[in-house]
Amino acid sequence: MIQVKNLSKRYGERIAVDDLSFTVRPGVVTGFLGPNGAGKSTTMRMIVGLDAATSGTVTVNGRRYADHPAPLRELGALLEAKSVHASRSAYNHLRVIAATTGIPKRRVDEVIELVGLHQVARKPAGAFSLGMGQRLGIATALLGDPETVILDEPVNGLDPEGVLWIRNLLKTLAAEGRTVFVSSHLMSEMALTAEHLVVIGRGRLIADVPIAEFTSRA
Ligand code: ADP
Ligand code: ADP
Repeated sequence: MIQVKNLSKRYGERIAVDDLSFTVRPGVVTGFLGPNGAGKSTTMRMIVGLDAATSGTVTVNGRRYADHPAPLRELGALLEAKSVHASRSAYNHLRVIAATTGIPKRRVDEVIELVGLHQVARKPAGAFSLGMGQRLGIATALLGDPETVILDEPVNGLDPEGVLWIRNLLKTLAAEGRTVFVSSHLMSEMALTAEHLVVIGRGRLIADVPIAEFTSRA
């Protein structure tokens, strides 16, 4: 469970996130909907502990990651523009992360299989398409078998098959009892993926409702 309370983030004069409060519960996919620039990525970075809040708090299963990144075994995230050593293979990229975080080697093979990269896992990740890069990012997020999964615009750059794959993956992760929080600027995408919606605009909360309630309003 993710609990966000009175969370704000300022960049100088600009208020990117403005007094947001909401809860993301386990067991259902929760969508985070808002136009570009609404504050979704900033909020997600604060949840993951990669960015400090100006005020307010975030807890993930009762723990605060306010000033350090969440351990991969507790929280996995796909955020924007993760850098990968271009010459390193997907397999080696994951091996290095697993080794530095104490995750067993066999888990690397499991996640490579899970995201469908087994045929290209030994090739340099620098040659990957956008969609394959997204799959590698998702493999990284799931490497620690985390209870909480956060994905920022995961379908960006994916082909239609990849989009379907992500939707099913998210639903499976939620059905396993995990907390799944996924952002998009597209209502049409959220309608097909999420059961619950947190909607923001200009950094402020607009709605926090079951998806059926939101779509019937529109
Ligand atoms: P979204 O993910 O919904 O597109 P962002 O969280 O990326 O929105 O951005 C929210 C607002 O914060 C935007 O106005 C953006 O320009 C601003 N912003 C984000 N990161 C920074 C930064 N590092 N410095 C200054 N402004 C930023
Ligand atoms: P480093 O200090 O070399 O980045 P880390 O162990 O902190 O080593 O992270 C290894 C890799 O895992 C990095 O690419 C980092 O971006 C990624 N990573 C760390 N924490 C998370 C997380 N919670 N979700 C997804 N990726 C993460």
